Amino acid sequence: MNILVSACLLGLNCRYSGDGKYIKELEELKGKVHLIPVCPEQLGGLPTPRNPVELKLGKAFDKEGRDCTEQFCKGAEEVCKLAEYFECTAAILKANSPSCGYGQIYDGSFQGKLIQGNGMTAEILAKRGVKIFSEKNLEELKVCIDEES
Ligand code: SF4
Repeated sequence: MNILVSACLLGLNCRYSGDGKYIKELEELKGKVHLIPVCPEQLGGLPTPRNPVELKLGKAFDKEGRDCTEQFCKGAEEVCKLAEYFECTAAILKANSPSCGYGQIYDGSFQGKLIQGNGMTAEILAKRGVKIFSEKNLEELKVCIDEES
């Protein structure tokens, strides 16, 4: 089973701040599934480190007000290509991110306020039938993996 994973959750230093967000629990999946690391913001051509970005009315803006929607869309498309190529049926995506968040994202005010919504990549993957998990509900994913094996 091939599963996409936000590269920052594997400890890759691809976040806007130039660091990663390593999640030890992912080690438990080694040997059970193949994890395919992706960072949509890097794949869309944004530099690292970069200004933080939040979504507002379906568009992506960085903290300085620069429109990053084009890069966010490109990153989502590139991730979809990989999902198709590797026939991924699930993805573990970093919670709350404007690209990877699913169910909750920041509201666009850069005040740390969460609202209902999906990051751009998570939204497109979900529409294509990929089941989205995050680092917060890995137990649910493990149940799915056990059912499929
Ligand atoms: S875009 Fe996704 S993978 Fe890349 S740093 Fe942000 S949360 Fe991690």
